[in-house]
Amino acid sequence: MKKELPGRVEIIAVGSELLTPYFQDTNSLYLSSRLNDLGWTVAFKTIVGDDREDLRLRLREALRRTRLVMVMGGLGPTGDDITREAVAGALGRDLVLQRDVLERIEDRFRRRQLPMPRANKKQALIIRGAAVLPNRNGTAPGQLIRVGGKKIVLLPGPPHELKPMCEESVWPALGEEQCGHLTRAVLRATGLTESMVEALISDLYPKTTDLGLTILASPGQIEFQLCAFSAVSRVLAENKLRRLKSRLIRRLRNHVFSETGESLEEIVGLLLKKQKKTLAVAESCSGGLISHRLTNVPGSSEYFLEGAIAYSNAAKIDLLAVPPDLIETHGAVSFPVARAMASGIRRRARADLGLAVTGIAGPTGGSPDKPVGLVFTALAWPGGTEVQKNLFLGKREQVKLQSTQKALDMVRRHLLQKARAKKRRTR
Ligand code: ATP
Ligand code: MG
Repeated sequence: MKKELPGRVEIIAVGSELLTPYFQDTNSLYLSSRLNDLGWTVAFKTIVGDDREDLRLRLREALRRTRLVMVMGGLGPTGDDITREAVAGALGRDLVLQRDVLERIEDRFRRRQLPMPRANKKQALIIRGAAVLPNRNGTAPGQLIRVGGKKIVLLPGPPHELKPMCEESVWPALGEEQCGHLTRAVLRATGLTESMVEALISDLYPKTTDLGLTILASPGQIEFQLCAFSAVSRVLAENKLRRLKSRLIRRLRNHVFSETGESLEEIVGLLLKKQKKTLAVAESCSGGLISHRLTNVPGSSEYFLEGAIAYSNAAKIDLLAVPPDLIETHGAVSFPVARAMASGIRRRARADLGLAVTGIAGPTGGSPDKPVGLVFTALAWPGGTEVQKNLFLGKREQVKLQSTQKALDMVRRHLLQKARAKKRRTR
């Protein structure tokens, strides 16, 4: 039986321009995606400038730590294109001028009725023992070199040359010795800090190399990226993934809002649509961000009625009918004002649900009893209200973002509760 260990790949992008702020290595995103489909794991991505010695060293290192090395860029005809020479040097192999490759290059120029510049001749130099990968869209062919049990693939840098070459020659060649099957899933959760997550799931971290779990935290959200590998079949990989996923969900429970990559606003939209409910939003410190997020979802007009940015006290009084003495007595950032804002926008828009946020985003405006990051989030529905006091950490934008996550999550939890209650009644 094959080992339950995905093959590790290193991708090396060659080009000094990729080390400046002006160019990005986007080819490796394409390569990673297709390699994953074939069951390979990208273990390293390296960017090297147009320097022979640097590339030689990187390649040696890559061969030590991975089974497949994909090098792209620097196969052109100019003096700064050093990939062929550097790889040949690192392997201690000759470069051989290959007749049929040279003829193909000459033919490209002939078809355009141009003389072939001498510089292009070097593109017909092939590393001894390499298989030539034809290039339909450019002059430089790719090369596939076997070194012991390992492989090196050289690819041209321009994406419109690299992609067709991979589709036509590289993936079929790598697929033949297919490494296995890799499947992935994403869970998204909210209402948890990283340390709470750690306490809940630390014993579920995979202990075998056929499973992977990566945790990414952002303001108000934690993402769990899962992957599972099987050398035998896709079904086995999917079963392993499903087991890991359900174990995580059992621990994280209703903090998990998405199992298939949706954003929180998409999930809230789906629930509102399903329950045929409408929503209106009153925002102070979030400055319209909740409304923006909700209306980013196509079809949101079905459930989103109105958003008011009631920033000043006057706006809270005029737009939302918040009683002035409430603001006077408790301040605009307070439990009762948040509740009055939610009820006010709900009434004004004649919506099923009213959502409101009021808080201190900072960096100024805080006080000992009302510090920066203090945010009240409130929800009003027919016959009830709920207000939550939150203390968020971080800069102004992070406080705003966390406020929107919390507010949207209150809607989500409310709608889930309603759905559960209805289910119980009909049982
Ligand atoms: P050429 O024959 O065109 O010189 P080459 O193999 O030498 O091909 P480079 O000179 O390294 O390739 O790159 C040519 C162009 O391809 C770059 O200007 C850039 O636009 C694009 N390119 C190179 N590497 C990458 C990369 N990693 N991601 C995205 N684009 C890239
Ligand atoms: Mg070049």
